[in-house]
Amino acid sequence: MRVCVLGAGVVGLTSAYYLVKKGFDVTVIDRQEGVALETSFANAGQISPGYSAPWAAPGIPLKAIKWLMQKHAPLKVSADPELKKIAWMGKMLINCTEKAYDVNKSRMVALAEYSRDQFITMRKDIGIKYDDGQGGLTQLFRKDEQVEASEKDIKVLKALNVPHQVLTPAQILEVEPGLAPVIDKFKGGLRLVGDETGDCFVFCQELKKHCDELGVTFKFGVAIERLVVEGGKVRAVKTDQGDFEFDNILVSMGSYSKELLSDIDISVPVYPVKGYSLTVPITDSQFAPVSTVMDETYKVAVTRLGGRIRAAGTAELNGYNLDLPKVRTETITHVVHDLFDQGCDLSEADYWTGLRPMTPDGTPVVGRTHIDGLYLNTGHGTLGWTMCCGSAAVIADIISGDKTDIDSQDLSVRRYK
Ligand SMILES: Cc1cc2nc3c(=O)[nH]c(=O)nc-3n(C[C@H](O)[C@H](O)[C@H](O)COP(=O)(O)OP(=O)(O)OC[C@H]3O[C@@H](n4cnc5c(N)ncnc54)[C@H](O)[C@@H]3O)c2cc1C
Repeated sequence: MRVCVLGAGVVGLTSAYYLVKKGFDVTVIDRQEGVALETSFANAGQISPGYSAPWAAPGIPLKAIKWLMQKHAPLKVSADPELKKIAWMGKMLINCTEKAYDVNKSRMVALAEYSRDQFITMRKDIGIKYDDGQGGLTQLFRKDEQVEASEKDIKVLKALNVPHQVLTPAQILEVEPGLAPVIDKFKGGLRLVGDETGDCFVFCQELKKHCDELGVTFKFGVAIERLVVEGGKVRAVKTDQGDFEFDNILVSMGSYSKELLSDIDISVPVYPVKGYSLTVPITDSQFAPVSTVMDETYKVAVTRLGGRIRAAGTAELNGYNLDLPKVRTETITHVVHDLFDQGCDLSEADYWTGLRPMTPDGTPVVGRTHIDGLYLNTGHGTLGWTMCCGSAAVIADIISGDKTDIDSQDLSVRRYK
Protein backbone atom coordinates (compact mmCIF):
# COMPACT_ATOMS: atom_id res chain seq x y z
CA MET A 1 0.00 0.00 0.00
CA ARG A 2 1.52 3.35 -1.11
CA VAL A 3 1.34 6.31 1.29
CA CYS A 4 2.58 9.78 0.44
CA VAL A 5 3.48 12.16 3.26
CA LEU A 6 3.29 15.81 2.21
CA GLY A 7 5.89 17.79 4.19
CA ALA A 8 9.27 16.78 5.62
CA GLY A 9 9.14 18.77 8.82
CA VAL A 10 9.37 16.91 12.13
CA VAL A 11 5.68 15.95 11.91
CA GLY A 12 5.84 14.53 8.37
CA LEU A 13 9.16 12.79 8.99
CA THR A 14 8.10 11.06 12.20
CA SER A 15 4.87 10.02 10.43
CA ALA A 16 6.96 8.49 7.64
CA TYR A 17 9.01 6.57 10.21
CA TYR A 18 5.98 5.07 11.99
CA LEU A 19 4.28 4.29 8.67
CA VAL A 20 7.25 2.50 7.13
CA LYS A 21 7.61 0.45 10.31
CA LYS A 22 4.04 -0.74 9.74
CA GLY A 23 4.96 -2.02 6.30
CA PHE A 24 3.69 0.80 4.07
CA ASP A 25 5.53 1.89 0.92
CA VAL A 26 6.23 5.51 1.98
CA THR A 27 7.18 8.55 -0.11
CA VAL A 28 7.80 11.99 1.44
CA ILE A 29 7.51 15.13 -0.73
CA ASP A 30 8.87 18.55 0.27
CA ARG A 31 9.75 21.78 -1.54
CA GLN A 32 12.97 22.18 0.44
CA GLU A 33 16.24 20.38 -0.32
CA GLY A 34 16.23 18.41 2.94
CA VAL A 35 14.27 17.66 6.10
CA ALA A 36 13.27 20.20 8.77
CA LEU A 37 14.25 23.35 6.92
CA GLU A 38 11.15 25.37 7.84
CA THR A 39 9.46 25.58 11.29
CA SER A 40 11.23 22.47 12.59
CA PHE A 41 14.66 24.06 12.08
CA ALA A 42 15.49 25.99 15.28
CA ASN A 43 12.68 25.79 17.84
CA ALA A 44 13.14 26.16 21.60
CA GLY A 45 14.07 22.50 22.01
CA GLN A 46 11.53 21.68 24.72
CA ILE A 47 9.81 18.30 24.72
CA SER A 48 7.37 19.37 27.28
CA PRO A 49 4.28 17.38 28.24
CA GLY A 50 4.20 19.21 31.59
CA TYR A 51 4.05 22.56 29.85
CA SER A 52 1.46 21.47 27.27
CA ALA A 53 -1.44 23.87 27.47
CA PRO A 54 -3.49 25.88 25.01
CA TRP A 55 -2.66 29.55 24.68
CA ALA A 56 -6.40 30.17 24.72
CA ALA A 57 -6.96 30.29 28.47
CA PRO A 58 -9.18 32.22 30.91
CA GLY A 59 -7.59 35.61 31.57
CA ILE A 60 -5.64 35.67 28.31
CA PRO A 61 -7.83 38.31 26.58
CA LEU A 62 -7.04 40.82 29.37
CA LYS A 63 -3.36 39.90 29.47
CA ALA A 64 -3.21 40.23 25.66
CA ILE A 65 -4.42 43.83 25.85
CA LYS A 66 -1.68 44.65 28.40
CA TRP A 67 1.00 42.83 26.34
CA LEU A 68 0.15 44.87 23.24
CA MET A 69 1.36 47.95 25.13
CA GLN A 70 4.63 46.55 26.50
CA LYS A 71 8.10 46.59 24.92
CA HIS A 72 9.26 43.05 25.85
CA ALA A 73 5.84 41.46 25.46
CA PRO A 74 5.27 37.83 24.42
CA LEU A 75 2.53 38.83 21.93
CA LYS A 76 2.62 41.08 18.86
CA VAL A 77 -0.25 41.60 16.44
CA SER A 78 0.34 43.40 13.14
CA ALA A 79 -2.00 46.34 12.58
CA ASP A 80 -3.30 45.28 9.14
CA PRO A 81 -6.94 44.11 9.14
CA GLU A 82 -6.23 40.66 7.63
CA LEU A 83 -9.53 38.74 7.65
CA LYS A 84 -7.97 35.30 8.29
CA LYS A 85 -6.15 36.66 11.33
CA ILE A 86 -9.26 38.30 12.77
CA ALA A 87 -11.36 35.15 12.21
CA TRP A 88 -8.68 32.99 13.87
CA MET A 89 -8.40 35.35 16.86
CA GLY A 90 -12.19 35.19 17.23
CA LYS A 91 -12.07 31.38 17.35
CA MET A 92 -9.26 31.54 19.89
CA LEU A 93 -11.32 33.91 22.05
CA ILE A 94 -14.18 31.38 22.13
CA ASN A 95 -11.69 28.86 23.55
CA CYS A 96 -10.73 31.12 26.47
CA THR A 97 -13.43 29.76 28.82
CA GLU A 98 -12.61 27.51 31.81
CA LYS A 99 -14.55 24.65 30.24
CA ALA A 100 -12.85 24.83 26.82
CA TYR A 101 -9.45 25.22 28.48
CA ASP A 102 -9.91 22.06 30.56
CA VAL A 103 -11.02 20.01 27.54
CA ASN A 104 -8.20 21.30 25.31
CA LYS A 105 -5.52 20.96 27.98
CA SER A 106 -6.45 17.36 28.81
CA ARG A 107 -6.31 16.41 25.09
CA MET A 108 -2.92 18.09 24.71
CA VAL A 109 -1.35 16.61 27.84
CA ALA A 110 -2.51 13.08 26.93
CA LEU A 111 -0.97 13.36 23.46
CA ALA A 112 2.22 15.01 24.73
CA GLU A 113 2.78 12.42 27.50
CA TYR A 114 2.27 9.63 24.95
CA SER A 115 4.69 11.39 22.61
CA ARG A 116 7.41 11.69 25.25
CA ASP A 117 7.04 7.96 25.92
CA GLN A 118 7.41 7.30 22.18
CA PHE A 119 10.66 9.32 22.22
CA ILE A 120 11.95 7.08 25.02
CA THR A 121 11.04 3.96 23.02
CA MET A 122 12.62 5.36 19.87
CA ARG A 123 15.89 6.09 21.73
CA LYS A 124 15.93 2.48 22.94
CA ASP A 125 14.98 1.04 19.52
CA ILE A 126 17.34 2.94 17.23
CA GLY A 127 19.75 4.71 19.61
CA ILE A 128 18.97 8.10 18.06
CA LYS A 129 20.94 11.05 19.50
CA TYR A 130 19.97 14.70 19.07
CA ASP A 131 21.73 16.71 21.82
CA ASP A 132 18.95 15.29 23.94
CA GLY A 133 18.57 15.80 27.66
CA GLN A 134 16.15 14.50 30.27
CA GLY A 135 16.58 17.27 32.85
CA GLY A 136 13.01 18.62 33.11
CA LEU A 137 11.77 22.20 32.68
CA THR A 138 11.93 24.90 35.34
CA GLN A 139 9.44 27.75 35.21
CA LEU A 140 10.85 30.92 36.78
CA PHE A 141 8.61 33.42 38.56
CA ARG A 142 9.86 36.96 39.07
CA LYS A 143 6.69 38.19 40.82
CA ASP A 144 4.62 37.01 43.80
CA GLU A 145 1.50 37.13 41.58
CA GLN A 146 3.10 34.54 39.28
CA VAL A 147 3.81 32.22 42.23
CA GLU A 148 0.16 32.61 43.35
CA ALA A 149 -1.16 32.08 39.82
CA SER A 150 0.87 28.87 39.49
CA GLU A 151 -1.31 27.29 42.21
CA LYS A 152 -4.05 26.89 39.62
CA ASP A 153 -1.67 25.14 37.22
CA ILE A 154 -0.45 22.90 40.04
CA LYS A 155 -4.03 21.71 40.66
CA VAL A 156 -4.32 20.77 36.97
CA LEU A 157 -0.92 19.03 37.03
CA LYS A 158 -2.04 17.03 40.09
CA ALA A 159 -5.34 16.10 38.44
CA LEU A 160 -3.52 14.90 35.32
CA ASN A 161 -0.79 13.09 37.34
CA VAL A 162 2.00 15.17 35.78
CA PRO A 163 5.11 14.96 38.03
CA HIS A 164 6.20 18.38 39.29
CA GLN A 165 8.01 20.15 42.16
CA VAL A 166 7.35 23.58 43.65
CA LEU A 167 10.72 25.31 44.12
CA THR A 168 12.03 28.04 46.41
CA PRO A 169 14.84 30.19 44.94
CA ALA A 170 17.39 28.02 46.82
CA GLN A 171 15.86 24.89 45.28
CA ILE A 172 15.96 26.48 41.81
CA LEU A 173 19.74 26.67 42.22
CA GLU A 174 19.92 22.95 43.02
CA VAL A 175 18.56 22.17 39.53
CA GLU A 176 19.84 25.22 37.62
CA PRO A 177 23.05 26.34 39.37
CA GLY A 178 23.96 28.62 36.44
CA LEU A 179 21.35 31.08 37.70
CA ALA A 180 23.40 31.79 40.88
CA PRO A 181 24.44 35.35 39.87
CA VAL A 182 20.81 36.37 39.26
CA ILE A 183 18.81 34.24 41.70
CA ASP A 184 17.66 37.33 43.64
CA LYS A 185 15.44 38.22 40.68
CA PHE A 186 13.20 35.20 41.36
CA LYS A 187 10.46 34.57 43.93
CA GLY A 188 10.07 30.88 43.12
CA GLY A 189 9.75 28.23 40.46
CA LEU A 190 7.87 25.17 39.30
CA ARG A 191 9.73 22.19 37.89
CA LEU A 192 8.16 19.81 35.41
CA VAL A 193 10.23 16.79 36.17
CA GLY A 194 9.37 14.57 33.18
CA ASP A 195 10.06 17.12 30.45
CA GLU A 196 12.92 16.60 28.02
CA THR A 197 15.04 18.65 25.63
CA GLY A 198 16.71 18.16 22.27
CA ASP A 199 17.60 19.67 18.92
CA CYS A 200 14.70 19.06 16.55
CA PHE A 201 16.81 19.68 13.42
CA VAL A 202 19.53 17.22 14.51
CA PHE A 203 16.80 14.68 15.38
CA CYS A 204 15.31 15.04 11.89
CA GLN A 205 18.70 14.62 10.19
CA GLU A 206 19.31 11.43 12.17
CA LEU A 207 15.79 10.07 11.73
CA LYS A 208 16.00 10.63 7.98
CA LYS A 209 19.01 8.28 7.88
CA HIS A 210 16.93 5.59 9.60
CA CYS A 211 14.05 6.22 7.21
CA ASP A 212 16.45 5.86 4.26
CA GLU A 213 17.58 2.50 5.63
CA LEU A 214 13.96 1.42 6.10
CA GLY A 215 13.19 2.22 2.45
CA VAL A 216 11.34 5.59 2.62
CA THR A 217 11.61 7.53 -0.68
CA PHE A 218 12.23 11.29 -0.38
CA LYS A 219 11.38 13.71 -3.18
CA PHE A 220 12.96 17.07 -2.33
CA GLY A 221 12.71 20.34 -4.23
CA VAL A 222 9.15 19.52 -5.31
CA ALA A 223 6.42 22.13 -4.78
CA ILE A 224 3.01 20.68 -3.95
CA GLU A 225 0.23 22.52 -5.78
CA ARG A 226 -3.01 20.68 -5.11
CA LEU A 227 -4.72 17.40 -4.35
CA VAL A 228 -6.61 15.47 -7.01
CA VAL A 229 -9.86 14.02 -5.64
CA GLU A 230 -12.17 11.85 -7.75
CA GLY A 231 -15.42 10.18 -6.65
CA GLY A 232 -14.83 10.99 -2.98
CA LYS A 233 -11.33 9.42 -3.02
CA VAL A 234 -7.96 11.15 -3.10
CA ARG A 235 -6.10 9.95 -6.17
CA ALA A 236 -2.95 11.99 -6.61
CA VAL A 237 -0.91 15.00 -5.62
CA LYS A 238 -0.27 17.63 -8.30
CA THR A 239 3.17 19.22 -8.10
CA ASP A 240 5.40 21.51 -10.16
CA GLN A 241 7.03 18.28 -11.40
CA GLY A 242 3.90 16.42 -12.44
CA ASP A 243 1.20 14.32 -10.78
CA PHE A 244 2.07 11.48 -8.38
CA GLU A 245 -0.53 8.80 -7.62
CA PHE A 246 -0.90 7.12 -4.20
CA ASP A 247 -3.41 4.97 -2.29
CA ASN A 248 -3.26 7.24 0.78
CA ILE A 249 -2.06 10.80 1.31
CA LEU A 250 -1.13 12.37 4.63
CA VAL A 251 -0.97 16.17 4.82
CA SER A 252 1.77 17.45 7.20
CA MET A 253 2.66 20.77 5.64
CA GLY A 254 2.67 22.78 8.88
CA SER A 255 1.35 26.32 8.42
CA TYR A 256 0.77 25.67 4.70
CA SER A 257 -1.65 22.74 5.15
CA LYS A 258 -4.61 25.11 5.40
CA GLU A 259 -4.43 26.52 1.86
CA LEU A 260 -4.00 23.10 0.25
CA LEU A 261 -7.00 21.74 2.13
CA SER A 262 -9.31 24.73 1.66
CA ASP A 263 -9.05 24.05 -2.09
CA ILE A 264 -10.95 20.79 -1.53
CA ASP A 265 -13.37 22.26 1.04
CA ILE A 266 -11.66 20.98 4.18
CA SER A 267 -11.44 23.78 6.68
CA VAL A 268 -8.53 23.46 9.12
CA PRO A 269 -8.31 26.62 11.25
CA VAL A 270 -4.52 26.91 11.30
CA TYR A 271 -2.87 30.34 11.46
CA PRO A 272 0.92 30.92 11.16
CA VAL A 273 2.05 32.32 14.52
CA LYS A 274 5.54 33.66 14.09
CA GLY A 275 8.27 33.10 16.67
CA TYR A 276 11.97 33.88 17.00
CA SER A 277 14.98 32.03 18.35
CA LEU A 278 18.66 32.57 18.93
CA THR A 279 21.41 29.97 19.23
CA VAL A 280 24.72 30.80 20.87
CA PRO A 281 27.75 28.69 21.85
CA ILE A 282 28.33 28.22 25.59
CA THR A 283 31.56 29.86 26.75
CA ASP A 284 31.33 28.91 30.46
CA SER A 285 29.06 25.98 31.27
CA GLN A 286 28.83 26.77 35.00
CA PHE A 287 26.78 29.84 33.97
CA ALA A 288 24.63 28.04 31.39
CA PRO A 289 21.27 26.26 31.80
CA VAL A 290 21.32 22.54 32.63
CA SER A 291 18.01 21.90 30.87
CA THR A 292 15.16 24.32 29.96
CA VAL A 293 14.26 27.38 32.01
CA MET A 294 11.08 29.22 31.10
CA ASP A 295 11.09 32.88 32.12
CA GLU A 296 7.37 33.35 32.75
CA THR A 297 7.55 37.15 32.67
CA TYR A 298 8.65 37.18 29.03
CA LYS A 299 7.42 33.67 28.04
CA VAL A 300 10.92 32.97 26.74
CA ALA A 301 12.37 29.44 26.97
CA VAL A 302 16.13 29.05 27.33
CA THR A 303 17.42 25.53 26.66
CA ARG A 304 20.75 23.76 26.83
CA LEU A 305 21.42 21.87 23.57
CA GLY A 306 24.82 20.20 23.99
CA GLY A 307 27.41 22.98 23.86
CA ARG A 308 24.88 25.63 22.84
CA ILE A 309 22.12 27.73 24.36
CA ARG A 310 18.88 28.07 22.40
CA ALA A 311 16.37 30.74 23.45
CA ALA A 312 12.99 31.21 21.80
CA GLY A 313 9.75 33.05 22.23
CA THR A 314 7.34 35.73 20.98
CA ALA A 315 4.01 35.09 19.30
CA GLU A 316 3.48 37.40 16.37
CA LEU A 317 0.33 37.39 14.25
CA ASN A 318 1.55 38.79 10.95
CA GLY A 319 0.56 36.36 8.18
CA TYR A 320 3.21 34.33 6.36
CA ASN A 321 5.84 37.06 6.75
CA LEU A 322 9.32 35.62 7.47
CA ASP A 323 11.31 38.87 7.91
CA LEU A 324 13.76 38.88 10.80
CA PRO A 325 13.89 42.48 12.10
CA LYS A 326 16.35 43.10 14.94
CA VAL A 327 13.69 44.79 17.06
CA ARG A 328 11.70 41.51 17.25
CA THR A 329 14.69 39.58 18.59
CA GLU A 330 15.32 42.02 21.42
CA THR A 331 13.16 40.13 23.95
CA ILE A 332 14.96 36.78 23.56
CA THR A 333 18.33 38.55 23.59
CA HIS A 334 17.30 40.49 26.70
CA VAL A 335 16.34 37.29 28.58
CA VAL A 336 19.57 35.44 27.74
CA HIS A 337 21.57 38.54 28.69
CA ASP A 338 19.61 38.85 31.94
CA LEU A 339 19.95 35.17 32.98
CA PHE A 340 23.09 33.68 31.44
CA ASP A 341 25.29 36.61 30.43
CA GLN A 342 28.40 35.01 31.91
CA GLY A 343 27.75 31.71 30.12
CA CYS A 344 27.84 32.91 26.50
CA ASP A 345 28.91 35.69 24.16
CA LEU A 346 25.74 37.09 22.61
CA SER A 347 27.67 38.76 19.80
CA GLU A 348 28.08 35.18 18.45
CA ALA A 349 24.32 34.48 18.37
CA ASP A 350 22.54 33.17 15.25
CA TYR A 351 18.95 34.37 14.90
CA TRP A 352 16.04 32.56 13.22
CA THR A 353 12.31 32.89 12.72
CA GLY A 354 9.59 30.30 12.04
CA LEU A 355 5.81 30.01 11.71
CA ARG A 356 4.03 27.86 14.29
CA PRO A 357 1.03 26.13 12.67
CA MET A 358 -1.47 27.06 15.39
CA THR A 359 -5.05 25.90 15.86
CA PRO A 360 -7.30 28.13 17.99
CA ASP A 361 -7.78 25.34 20.56
CA GLY A 362 -4.06 24.48 20.72
CA THR A 363 -4.62 20.82 19.84
CA PRO A 364 -3.24 19.47 16.54
CA VAL A 365 -5.48 17.96 13.88
CA VAL A 366 -4.71 14.25 13.61
CA GLY A 367 -6.96 11.75 11.83
CA ARG A 368 -8.97 10.84 8.77
CA THR A 369 -11.05 13.24 6.66
CA HIS A 370 -14.35 12.69 4.83
CA ILE A 371 -12.30 12.06 1.67
CA ASP A 372 -11.34 8.42 1.34
CA GLY A 373 -7.56 7.92 1.65
CA LEU A 374 -6.85 11.49 2.83
CA TYR A 375 -5.43 11.95 6.35
CA LEU A 376 -4.17 14.92 8.37
CA ASN A 377 -1.35 15.33 10.88
CA THR A 378 -0.90 19.07 11.23
CA GLY A 379 -1.57 22.17 13.36
CA HIS A 380 0.88 21.40 16.18
CA GLY A 381 1.44 25.08 16.98
CA THR A 382 3.80 25.68 19.87
CA LEU A 383 4.24 21.98 20.60
CA GLY A 384 5.09 20.16 17.38
CA TRP A 385 8.45 18.98 18.69
CA THR A 386 6.83 17.76 21.90
CA MET A 387 3.94 15.97 20.18
CA CYS A 388 5.51 14.75 16.91
CA CYS A 389 6.24 11.13 17.87
CA GLY A 390 2.87 10.70 19.60
CA SER A 391 0.77 12.11 16.78
CA ALA A 392 2.86 10.20 14.20
CA ALA A 393 2.27 6.92 16.04
CA VAL A 394 -1.46 7.73 16.27
CA ILE A 395 -1.84 8.54 12.56
CA ALA A 396 0.13 5.45 11.54
CA ASP A 397 -2.30 3.35 13.61
CA ILE A 398 -5.31 5.11 12.06
CA ILE A 399 -4.05 4.66 8.49
CA SER A 400 -3.33 0.97 9.20
CA GLY A 401 -6.76 0.49 10.73
CA ASP A 402 -5.18 -0.47 14.07
CA LYS A 403 -6.48 0.62 17.48
CA THR A 404 -4.67 3.73 18.70
CA ASP A 405 -2.92 3.59 22.10
CA ILE A 406 -4.62 6.83 23.23
CA ASP A 407 -8.10 8.17 22.53
CA SER A 408 -7.83 9.86 19.14
CA GLN A 409 -11.49 10.69 18.42
CA ASP A 410 -11.18 14.30 19.57
CA LEU A 411 -8.03 14.95 17.58
CA SER A 412 -9.63 14.78 14.13
CA VAL A 413 -10.82 17.75 12.06
CA ARG A 414 -14.43 16.75 12.85
CA ARG A 415 -14.18 18.53 16.20
CA TYR A 416 -14.53 21.88 14.42
CA LYS A 417 -17.96 21.05 12.96
C1 LIG B 1 10.18 30.08 17.85
C2 LIG B 1 9.58 28.72 17.97
C3 LIG B 1 9.84 27.95 19.09
C4 LIG B 1 9.28 26.69 19.24
N1 LIG B 1 9.61 25.93 20.32
C5 LIG B 1 9.08 24.70 20.46
C6 LIG B 1 9.43 23.87 21.55
O1 LIG B 1 10.29 24.21 22.35
N2 LIG B 1 8.82 22.68 21.70
C7 LIG B 1 7.87 22.26 20.81
O2 LIG B 1 7.31 21.20 21.03
N3 LIG B 1 7.56 22.98 19.73
C8 LIG B 1 8.13 24.19 19.53
N4 LIG B 1 7.81 24.95 18.45
C9 LIG B 1 6.83 24.43 17.49
C10 LIG B 1 7.40 23.40 16.53
O3 LIG B 1 8.66 23.81 16.05
C11 LIG B 1 6.41 23.20 15.38
O4 LIG B 1 5.14 22.86 15.89
C12 LIG B 1 6.87 22.10 14.44
O5 LIG B 1 8.17 22.34 13.97
C13 LIG B 1 5.91 21.99 13.25
O6 LIG B 1 6.37 20.95 12.45
P1 LIG B 1 5.67 20.62 11.08
O7 LIG B 1 6.35 19.45 10.52
O8 LIG B 1 4.20 20.58 11.26
O9 LIG B 1 5.93 21.94 10.19
P2 LIG B 1 7.23 22.33 9.33
O10 LIG B 1 8.46 22.01 10.07
O11 LIG B 1 7.03 23.72 8.88
O12 LIG B 1 7.14 21.33 8.11
C14 LIG B 1 6.25 21.53 7.04
C15 LIG B 1 6.95 21.11 5.78
O13 LIG B 1 6.04 21.24 4.69
C16 LIG B 1 6.76 21.74 3.58
N5 LIG B 1 5.83 22.43 2.68
C17 LIG B 1 4.94 23.40 3.01
N6 LIG B 1 4.27 23.79 1.92
C18 LIG B 1 4.74 23.05 0.87
C19 LIG B 1 4.44 22.99 -0.51
N7 LIG B 1 3.52 23.76 -1.09
N8 LIG B 1 5.14 22.11 -1.29
C20 LIG B 1 6.08 21.30 -0.74
N9 LIG B 1 6.42 21.32 0.55
C21 LIG B 1 5.75 22.19 1.37
C22 LIG B 1 7.79 22.69 4.17
O14 LIG B 1 8.89 22.84 3.30
C23 LIG B 1 8.15 22.02 5.47
O15 LIG B 1 9.32 21.23 5.37
C24 LIG B 1 8.39 26.20 18.24
C25 LIG B 1 8.14 26.96 17.10
C26 LIG B 1 8.75 28.21 16.95
C27 LIG B 1 8.47 29.00 15.71
